[in-house]
Amino acid sequence: MADVPAECTIKVMCRFRPLNSSEVTRGDKYIPKFQGEDHVVVGSKPFQFDRVFQPSTTQEQVYNACAQKIVKDVLEGYNGTIFAYGQTSSGKTHTMEGNLHDTDGMGIIPRIVQDIFNYIYSMDENLEFHIKVVSKTNLSVHEDKNRVPYVKGCTERFVCSPEEVMDTIDEGKSNRHVAVTNMNEHSSRSHSIFQINVKQENTATEQKLSGKLYLVDLAGSEKVSKTGAEGAVLDEAKNINKSLSSLGNVISALAEGSGYIPYRDSKMTRILQDSLGGNCRTTIVICASPSAYNESETKSTLMFGQRAK
Ligand code: ADP
Ligand code: MG
Repeated sequence: MADVPAECTIKVMCRFRPLNSSEVTRGDKYIPKFQGEDHVVVGSKPFQFDRVFQPSTTQEQVYNACAQKIVKDVLEGYNGTIFAYGQTSSGKTHTMEGNLHDTDGMGIIPRIVQDIFNYIYSMDENLEFHIKVVSKTNLSVHEDKNRVPYVKGCTERFVCSPEEVMDTIDEGKSNRHVAVTNMNEHSSRSHSIFQINVKQENTATEQKLSGKLYLVDLAGSEKVSKTGAEGAVLDEAKNINKSLSSLGNVISALAEGSGYIPYRDSKMTRILQDSLGGNCRTTIVICASPSAYNESETKSTLMFGQRAK
């Protein structure tokens, strides 16, 4: 544990996806100019991050840079959070989940699950592990009588293999598909949180360790005005924009080492409080489109990431 600093560490990574087929067909200009491993220029404005991933970066390379270290820390009893932030269609779900059942296409979540189980299988028999996963879209936060926040109505289960975890994710996705038909584009209008708790007990020494990891595929960050939303959908969109800006405020307060962290300003920051402050690791993956068509959204996305540094 000695190599983990006593305060929160925040890393901000930035990933550009390739131009998609409609952008290519439309003849959109490709705008990012990459410089070295950590700089990108968009519309003559330079941005710096811990790492910048060009469109050719593989899922494995993204995992190694963004998540491998956090997984190691969680197995040593620390808490961590990985967020994907960006406008709809910028590659957040591709980055967090990717193709769950394809070795090259797997995103961060299935790789984490695999790494955790490989670690468990490699450990000696005196170690007993309890792995619990919780999957939730469209957050609804409540408080128990001790004012501890909890999420209502999520799927929560103990798992014994990577396959069981993937099944849980697939089930969560099929629930989400039902919601999509009820509410226009529901999946991009809500945050999706996947939580993995790892408890270990050494049955010989009775030593216990417990770590928790939150993996968050955030709702699309695009401006409300651009979505053409009305009525209840507009109210929901405003809520999402508010929760994203609250998240930004919490992360920049943490990054500045401020004495006051405004966790209570949004549901999500209340839920994530024990994995955002204190002795924890946070990684934000800023996802962006390379097309000139999305330039203003891309710039505000990159600005969000810059604030967290
Ligand atoms: P979001 O979750 O931000 O709305 P998605 O992850 O669903 O966006 O990505 C939109 C589309 O672009 C998907 O079809 C996805 O497979 C594709 N895509 C996203 N990022 C990449 C990438 N780095 N390489 C190849 N395809 C990508
Ligand atoms: Mg998505």
